[in-house]
Amino acid sequence: MIVAKTLQEFLQAREALSNGNVGFVPTMGALHQGHISLVEHSVEKCKYTVVSIFVNPTQFNNQNDLATYPRTLEADCALLEKSGVDLVFAPGVEDIYPSPDERVFDLGGLDSCGEGPRTPGHFNGVAQVVTRLFDIVKPQFAFFGQKDFQQVAIVKHFTKKLGYGIEIVQCPTLREEDGLAKSSRNTLLTPAQREAAPHIYECIKTAPELMDKMSVAEAVKHLQERINQNSELEVEYIEMVDASTLKPVEKWSDAQEIQLWCAVYARPVRLIDNVKVK
Ligand code: AMP
Repeated sequence: MIVAKTLQEFLQAREALSNGNVGFVPTMGALHQGHISLVEHSVEKCKYTVVSIFVNPTQFNNQNDLATYPRTLEADCALLEKSGVDLVFAPGVEDIYPSPDERVFDLGGLDSCGEGPRTPGHFNGVAQVVTRLFDIVKPQFAFFGQKDFQQVAIVKHFTKKLGYGIEIVQCPTLREEDGLAKSSRNTLLTPAQREAAPHIYECIKTAPELMDKMSVAEAVKHLQERINQNSELEVEYIEMVDASTLKPVEKWSDAQEIQLWCAVYARPVRLIDNVKVK
């Protein structure tokens, strides 16, 4: 496995992978089994697997979150090597943004709810970094986690719209044994918060059972109250959305497929999760 820490090193190493399909897994590092599950999908599907590790400043709208984001490059590389990765790209900010990126992307309105209004600029920052990485890595396949449901939908949208010809593969959310979605941010939780955090999934996974019993608005209120009953947790939002348009639904019959997504504070850490309702 080669670890390229500059653009020049990467481009040189990438040339050696030109005789087969390349699968790409973009990450911000602090890798856990959730990331590795994406790598495993890529290793199975593609001849070569490239992983990037880059904490992208343009997708953070909270400077404290950016500053405290865990960085564990050595341990990450050890995990990736064991998982069969061929090439790691761990560039500096100057490699990805030689000058400030001022591009504004058309996200097709998919950012109008959920994380969009709560983290202004986040998805435009994701589009900036992902398109830049796609241009450099030139993969045939790219693997993203359902953990970030809205992100995959938005990546699929601009990949198609910009004609990249890259197949975006959505991989299932990997969870801890107690149900908490694996996340690099879990390491920032206090022991009491870590103990409380599985309560989020425990509550939201009951959403399908609520369909026969109450309206969408009542279900949202019920789940919000149940999560907030735990004093370590504070719901920022819970929404039921049409899984394809990502617009909120008012009635269970409003969409063929409904996804519930939420953001919950275990302050100052912010956790997101989602489940399929129908
Ligand atoms: P991040 O490093 O948080 O930007 O995540 C990199 C990729 O890993 C994204 O596509 C995430 O959706 C995915 N990912 C993060 N956590 C999980 C998880 N628990 N299960 C599956 N994929 C995940």
